[in-house]
Amino acid sequence: MKKVGKFVKKNKLWFILGCSFLLLLVIGLGVIIYFSPTLKLNGKRTVTVNIHSTYKEEGVKATYQDKDVSKDVVIKGKVNTDVEGTYELKYSIKKGLFEREVKRTVNVKDIEKPVITLNGEKEVKVCPGKASEYKDQGYTAVDNVDGDITDKVTVTTEGNKIIYEVTDEEGNKVTEERNLVESDTDSPTITLNGGENYTVLLNTSFTDSYTAKDSCDGDLKSKVKVTGSVDTKKVGTYTLTYEVTDSSGNTATAKRTVKVVEPAKGGVIYLTFDDGPKQGTTNVILDILKEEGVKATFFVTNSGPDDLIKREFNEGHTVALHTASHDYKTVYSSVDAYFKDLQSVHDRVYRLTGYDSKIIRFPGGSSNTISRNYSKGIMTTLTKEVVNRGYHYFDWNVSSGDAGDVKNADGVYNNVINGLSKSRANVVLMHDIKPYTRDALKRIIQYGKTHGYTFAAITYDTPMVKHGVNN
Ligand SMILES: [Zn+2]
Repeated sequence: MKKVGKFVKKNKLWFILGCSFLLLLVIGLGVIIYFSPTLKLNGKRTVTVNIHSTYKEEGVKATYQDKDVSKDVVIKGKVNTDVEGTYELKYSIKKGLFEREVKRTVNVKDIEKPVITLNGEKEVKVCPGKASEYKDQGYTAVDNVDGDITDKVTVTTEGNKIIYEVTDEEGNKVTEERNLVESDTDSPTITLNGGENYTVLLNTSFTDSYTAKDSCDGDLKSKVKVTGSVDTKKVGTYTLTYEVTDSSGNTATAKRTVKVVEPAKGGVIYLTFDDGPKQGTTNVILDILKEEGVKATFFVTNSGPDDLIKREFNEGHTVALHTASHDYKTVYSSVDAYFKDLQSVHDRVYRLTGYDSKIIRFPGGSSNTISRNYSKGIMTTLTKEVVNRGYHYFDWNVSSGDAGDVKNADGVYNNVINGLSKSRANVVLMHDIKPYTRDALKRIIQYGKTHGYTFAAITYDTPMVKHGVNN
């Protein structure tokens, strides 16, 4: 028993010694932990940054003896975002006996995709079946590092989709798409040459003239169905209707009222306006004619705005030709020069209205003598040659004097009303570029109406009014 007790005593001693050692160890560790700093990275250990961008340092969090000491951390290493590469940053802190260090790897590289910019719409409406005819409006491709890489773009088509693809030197790829949508929702356009309201004199002829165009089908004139007819041998109001449908089923209709009238017993007045169009006068003259329901004839040149010529035509007036330049020296230098100049104004009118005008007036009239200065006998030749070529030329038998001495509305008015005669067709010479003519017009029309005259625009049926030729 004694032996056993001795043994127990010995063990107890070891036990106490062991416990004391463990206790010292724990205390020691505690002291070490307490007197050493901790260091932890904010953010990721490995970071990738786009070249030429800014690297944002997220820092580290350091504590020592439960206090934040992040501001004492020393950072070693630098990141140059303008040069591709791998950069290492070292963060360290020393407190008491202990030092801590953590690292971060920063990769600077081009991770930005190029940008493809398409010219024009990304959704393009094309005519049905015409996707293959679409002409690309172009594109550009720009990369943050490589610059303009438009020439590296590959273009492929998948059905009605155009795919643009480009890859920069770093292998960043981008694609863009353009969709061609086949659809035609636009109705064709019917243009009634001579306007919606047309007046013709009894026992003359009426030639129906119109065009029909479609943005997808082009010229549809042959497909226009015209209903109704005009009997110019019988006074009355006739209605013509026009209908056309394009290949996508869009329909357009138009309507024209044609009045066949007896010339007033008192005679017809053909108001004619030369040398225009001109903004400020021609537009007001058109307003007055519209208000009064009167059709007139405009002998135009190549001057003035296109819109006014379109308006003259669309409002049912006759757009006639007066030469492009109206320059005596040019137009009367030779027969060829005259026809060249005339063709130029013809083409302008045709381009703006689709109307193939063959009604003309010579600058200065066929009786002018000024042409002698440039070419002897040219008027004798021209007056015959224009007729040979299918033109109808008109001089005048009433002059307003507005190109001469008359410089006010009263003078224009008096010249016109004193020149009118009930026993003939009155072709009145005026100039729509003159403000006093513009200002006299309403009174002239009202005079004509109250004195039993009929107003009409010159047509191919109007008998030519000619002067005697003096050169
Ligand atoms: Zn003139």
